[in-house]
Amino acid sequence: GGLLDRMRLDKKGFRIENPVVQAINGVSFKIEPGEVMALVGESGCGKSTVAKTIARIYSPTGGDILIDGENISDYGFSEMLPVRAKMQMIFQDPFASLNPRQKVRDIVAEPLLEQTKDAKSQKDIPAEIEALLAKVGLNSEHAGRYPHQFSGGQRQRIGIARALSVRPGLIIADEPVSALDVSIQAQILNLMMDLRDEFGLAYLFISHDLSVVHHIADRVGVMYLGFMVENAPRDQLFSKPKHPYTRALLSAAPSIKPTRDKEEIELTGEVPSALNLPSGCCFRTRCPFAWDRCAKERPVLKDVGDGQSVACHLTDEPEREVA
Ligand code: SF4
Ligand code: MG
Repeated sequence: GGLLDRMRLDKKGFRIENPVVQAINGVSFKIEPGEVMALVGESGCGKSTVAKTIARIYSPTGGDILIDGENISDYGFSEMLPVRAKMQMIFQDPFASLNPRQKVRDIVAEPLLEQTKDAKSQKDIPAEIEALLAKVGLNSEHAGRYPHQFSGGQRQRIGIARALSVRPGLIIADEPVSALDVSIQAQILNLMMDLRDEFGLAYLFISHDLSVVHHIADRVGVMYLGFMVENAPRDQLFSKPKHPYTRALLSAAPSIKPTRDKEEIELTGEVPSALNLPSGCCFRTRCPFAWDRCAKERPVLKDVGDGQSVACHLTDEPEREVA
C-alpha cells in the first residue's frame, strides 16, 4: 500500500456552510512513499479543499481517507495526534500560519512537543531545532526572532522546518510558493525537493501554476468543479493530455504546450457555480466536443493505460472528437 492509500470522497463528499460552499465529488487518488502528487486546476476547483480535508482541518461528510491503511475520515482532535506525526501541512501564506507572538524556536518545536511527552526526550528538542533550522537554510541566531523579522521566503523555510520536525512521511503543501517572487520560488522548491530526497518525503502539492507542477511533480491530478477529471504520471499528462479540460489548461500555459496542434483547445466561458452543477459532465458547458450523452451521463475516471485515468465520454467514443 501507499502512504496515502486512498483519498476517496464520493457523492456529496464535503460541504462547508456559508459563506463558502465547496463540494468535492468522486475524487480518488493515492500517493506512494516519496512521491510528489500535484493537484492542479483553476481557483475554486476544490484542490485546497481536498488538501485541508486530508489534513482533517475540514471534516468530510462521506468517503475515506486512508493514511498507512488507517481510515482517519472521522477522527477527532485527539485521534489525529499520532496521525500528525505522519502528515504535516504547509500553507500559501506562511505569515498567516505562524503565530506572530512566538519565537521561531517555539514555532518549529510545537509539533515536536506535541508528539514528545516524556521530559527526558524533551531535553533533546533544542538541539533538534538547531539541526532543523540548518536543514532549511536558517541558523541558530534566527531561532530567537519573531516571524515579522523575516522575508516571505524565510518564513516559508520556518514553516517547512516546523512541518519537518516530526519527520512526517507526507507533507501537504497548499500553494507553498505562489505568494513568493519567482526567484525565491525556485529556492523554496529546490529546498523541498532536497528534503524529499534526504527524508523520503512524499508531497501532496496544490498549485494553479503548471510550470511549477511540471518542474516538481511525479504525478498530476487535474480538478474541475470539485471533480478529478484526469490523473496521470507527469510526463504522460504533459505530453498526452486526454481530457478536454486538461488540454485547454495546457494550451493556455505559455511555456508548456501539448505536442500536437490538434490538442490545442481554447478555454472559453465561465466556470459554473458549484452550487448549481451542470447535469452529466461538469465540463460540458465549456467543452467544444460536448454531445447529448455528456448532458445525461456523468463520466467517471477510467483507466486508459500507462497509469493514466480520464473522466470523459470521448474515451469510449473517440470519433466524436471533431474540432
Ligand atoms: Fe467534453 Fe463530454 Fe468529455 Fe465532458 S464528457 S469533457 S462534455 S466530451
Ligand atoms: Mg486555494
